[in-house]
Amino acid sequence: MSTFSKEGFEIYIVGGAVRDFLMHKTIVDWDYTTNATPELIMSLFKDAYYNNQFGTVGIPSQDTFLKPHEITTYRTEHGYSDNRRPDKVSWGTSLFEDLKRRDFTINAMALGLNKNRELKASEIPAIIEEKTKLMLYLHDPYNGKLDLEKKFIRAVGDAAERFGEDALRMMRAVRIATELNFTIEESTLDAIKSNAGLINKISGERIRDELFKILCSPHPEEGMLLLDETGLLEKILPELKKTFGVEQKSPQRHHIYDVGTHLINSLKEVKTTDPIVRLATLIHDIGKPQTFKKQKNNVITFYNHEVIGAQIANQIADRLKLSKNQKDKLTRLVRWHQFSVDEKQTDSALRRLIKKIGPENIEDMLELRRADRIGSGARETSWRTEEFKKRLIEVQKQPFTVRDLKITGYDVMQELGLKPGPKIGEILNELFSKVENRQIPNEKEALLLELKSLNKTKPIS
Ligand code: ATP
Ligand code: MG
Repeated sequence: MSTFSKEGFEIYIVGGAVRDFLMHKTIVDWDYTTNATPELIMSLFKDAYYNNQFGTVGIPSQDTFLKPHEITTYRTEHGYSDNRRPDKVSWGTSLFEDLKRRDFTINAMALGLNKNRELKASEIPAIIEEKTKLMLYLHDPYNGKLDLEKKFIRAVGDAAERFGEDALRMMRAVRIATELNFTIEESTLDAIKSNAGLINKISGERIRDELFKILCSPHPEEGMLLLDETGLLEKILPELKKTFGVEQKSPQRHHIYDVGTHLINSLKEVKTTDPIVRLATLIHDIGKPQTFKKQKNNVITFYNHEVIGAQIANQIADRLKLSKNQKDKLTRLVRWHQFSVDEKQTDSALRRLIKKIGPENIEDMLELRRADRIGSGARETSWRTEEFKKRLIEVQKQPFTVRDLKITGYDVMQELGLKPGPKIGEILNELFSKVENRQIPNEKEALLLELKSLNKTKPIS
């Protein structure tokens, strides 16, 4: 900041960093705004680099564990005909103009060196840096500091107008309120309620990024309830909205909550911070509204809800532009969440289940089950579940495919002096089925020995 200042430029810390500073939190993202253009900034710092897409100049931090400092030239934005982005962005001329385009009062504050103007008597330095004795002053034209103290998310200017410019700001309001445990101020909340439909103009990727941040915050269940209250949930996850009020309390059933409430309760309990596991937990029963049936004896059933659920999960994954791997994991977790922990299952049935869920997803599947149980008012686990977990570990010691054998086609060729050909695969398959049936262990020595005896009993040439 002193480098900018010495060269006669204005420079301010802005955004999340100011918020975190005033809340006495550790600052992770250092964002700045200045009247210097990117070209000028580049000439001031030899290791600076320009990110054209965001119009931001990055300067690597001297502490290697910190993220780079990100500096953006003052901006003003005009015309938002598509409710998504400004038609035109141009360089602004003052800090005030730059703060005006920001979304919420707590995000529209700046910390600056303030060398450029006479100080008012009311202004006291917000910070004095130990080493350099630099003094920083808070610039707060929208009373963000007061809102921060009151724990309010309040739009800068007219809320409805601001959401009309960029509808994603409505999700940001919910996301930031959830992350910080703040309340959305009343007129801002009303504006979200009456403009919620505009969210559908926003791309799936941008909605997903905010949704994942909500899901991964310490109280995702609060965030989901807020999404519901604002009317945004109905727009972004209509299938989830439909689960609220779907009754499942009935004779012979353990459920005490309606489907939607159970899903929110389950999300509250999930510990891993993988957004896909959290999303899967949130939507695991999403197929229930479509499969609801009340029998003559008043028993409620949801046959095959996990099959319908997996189809819906697939559609949600496409809408939120999940990657192929994310989509695969999400649908598998929803599809198989009803897995049985019955001790009478055979080893091979268990191995089939593992293949369907995917060995890499087993831990997450068990975590979903744990959250599902607590979320429906049951105990965290049962002796059956604990026994089942032990068996899962046991049966996974056995190979799943020929490729998991501790011997390769090359070994077979060398041992038996064979040339490459279909014969090699046949031999490997035979060895594999012996290992799978526990006739021989999956160990190189034992497999080589078996090869030799195979050769003796029915010579291979
Ligand atoms: P964090 O990085 O902790 O999520 P942040 O406030 O830094 O919080 P960013 O998404 O990094 O959030 O955005 C930086 C700043 O840019 C915000 O503080 C806000 O002033 C402004 N901003 C970001 N997105 C928008 C938007 N859609 N509309 C208006 N201003 C925005
Ligand atoms: Mg940030």
